[in-house]
Amino acid sequence: MKKIEHIGIAVKSIETSNSLYEKLLGTTCYKEEHVVSEGVKTSFFKTGPNKIELLEATKEDSPIAKFIAKKGEGIHHIAFEVEDIVLEIERLKEEGFVVLSDKPKKGADNKLVAFVHPKTTNGVLIELCQEIV
Ligand code: ZN
Repeated sequence: MKKIEHIGIAVKSIETSNSLYEKLLGTTCYKEEHVVSEGVKTSFFKTGPNKIELLEATKEDSPIAKFIAKKGEGIHHIAFEVEDIVLEIERLKEEGFVVLSDKPKKGADNKLVAFVHPKTTNGVLIELCQEIV
């Protein structure tokens, strides 16, 4: 894997949290996106080379709604940029990790994404992402 691409934080309200993170980071959100298939609204912040993604559920059965119901707001996932997401999914499955989808899906921020189940990664949901070129 190349680097940490971003850290995802589950929030109850993107609107409220956008102003909070704008104050915290001293920078404005540069992108907002609604990923209808996943039932989430996202917003992105940049600090130097690093990115933070805020995620709000847009429907009750969204993974973000379930996460907040169980654990409350907080760090939801760590995303790693990979060179070839299809190969990386295969490699991780061979290593015994549980990857939540066999094929990458279209995620936010112009990326192909796949998730690794936290039960196989010490409780941390891992996102793999590859820029769509
Ligand atoms: Zn993410």
